[in-house]
Amino acid sequence: MKLAVSPGFRALLVILALLPAPRALARGDGGAVDGVSAEAAADTIAPFDAQVTDNQRADTTAADSAAVDSAVLVAQVADSVAADSAVAPVATPPRDYWGELRANFTPENRTYSDIKTVLRFIGPLYGTLAGLLVLFSGLSANLRDVAHGMGRSRWVRVVVYLALFTGVTFVLSFPLTWYDGFAIEHQYGLSGQSLGQWMTEQGKAAALGLFVLGVIPILWLIYTTIARSPRAWWLWLGLGSLPFIVAGTLLGPLVVDPVFNRFAPLENQQLKARILDLAARAHIPGRNVFQVDKSRQTNRYNAYVNGFGVSQRIVLWDTTLKGMSEDEILFVVGHEMGHYKLGHIWTGMLFASAFSLVVFFLAALISGWAMRRFGRWWGFSRLDDVASLPLLYVAVSLVLFVTQPAVHAFSRRQETEADLYGLELTHDNDAAARAFVKLAAQNKTNPEPSPFVKWALFSHPPDGERLRLALTYRPWEEGGPNRYLK
Ligand SMILES: [Zn+2]
Repeated sequence: MKLAVSPGFRALLVILALLPAPRALARGDGGAVDGVSAEAAADTIAPFDAQVTDNQRADTTAADSAAVDSAVLVAQVADSVAADSAVAPVATPPRDYWGELRANFTPENRTYSDIKTVLRFIGPLYGTLAGLLVLFSGLSANLRDVAHGMGRSRWVRVVVYLALFTGVTFVLSFPLTWYDGFAIEHQYGLSGQSLGQWMTEQGKAAALGLFVLGVIPILWLIYTTIARSPRAWWLWLGLGSLPFIVAGTLLGPLVVDPVFNRFAPLENQQLKARILDLAARAHIPGRNVFQVDKSRQTNRYNAYVNGFGVSQRIVLWDTTLKGMSEDEILFVVGHEMGHYKLGHIWTGMLFASAFSLVVFFLAALISGWAMRRFGRWWGFSRLDDVASLPLLYVAVSLVLFVTQPAVHAFSRRQETEADLYGLELTHDNDAAARAFVKLAAQNKTNPEPSPFVKWALFSHPPDGERLRLALTYRPWEEGGPNRYLK
């Protein structure tokens, strides 16, 4: 249900991520992303996926804000419980959702979550330092010399340089990639994958990035654009990324996702009937609901909606189907339908398009300035020299890191809207509350992170906020109008 906002945006990040180096340095957390096109790709290929994916949901100790907040929260819950039991005297004793939510965030989970938080900050920093190392050591100029020795065409030079640079970044980033994507996930029981399976997926992702998504032609195009238009290349590249954003959103579900997992129509016919019934109430044309064998990679819960037109689909992870009850799943699906009905895929693509112009503009400013200042040390004086690749990579990474809070704020807003939509559609506050408690426990995320960590890293509202909403939002009981479901 942490449906990630914007498929288009992820598609963009895949592209941006591919520019510099496929298996890049700053790997984010490899966990359950939540929904987007190119989900698998972004998750496994994009060095910047950390900034987009969802359950990066890293956290820190949240004692500060939680202490004040929780008093209010508990009071609110008590209120609503009281109201409930007045209406229904035979109701079973009220469940202590807050107690469960907090008890589930065990010391072990807190440690996991703290480690992930630190990694989310270290990743981009590490990537930047590695990029600078390659520049200042003169290694990038050396690799460029080798590439230039292989031929005169830009195409050959780009291919050779990219191959060498990819090897270097793979080695430099491997310890962090392995620790973040494999070791930690195993240590805390979030993945049952063998090292061999994991490595195979890394290889698939790299191959997909290089050959299918066309990183080589894209890189060639970038350098050709920089050479032809040294001043306005950022504008051309920003505009040029628009078709990729659209294609990524459309093709991600059809082309990229099946490389990593098996998708099949939902098996449970009774559940499927209830989902289609929900869809009818939301005025969504009956579409197939898919299940995907995510349990191969993770034990986390997730669901997402992605694609559009013929590729539009709701996908439930098999982990979710196994771990959640039917009414909880229906709320999750209602949330996904909210994304669909509220046009989040489209606004996401618009946002991504505008964002891509901003990213290229700032990256051009930074790299131009840095080259004038340090180019002598680095062994190149023009940005269209392929030796500048680490510089472009560092510049884009920095811009993405700095703009990440704005992207997350945009995403959190859409997630809250989808939560409210799901509640308006199902009127099942209790199932929603149970779903959030389970989600927080299974994904080992901090339900009440500090405001700073939420601001910097959370693409979804913290589970505590979502639980509060689930327990208190019920305008239909007072005959009030819906805000989103019309
Ligand atoms: Zn969502």
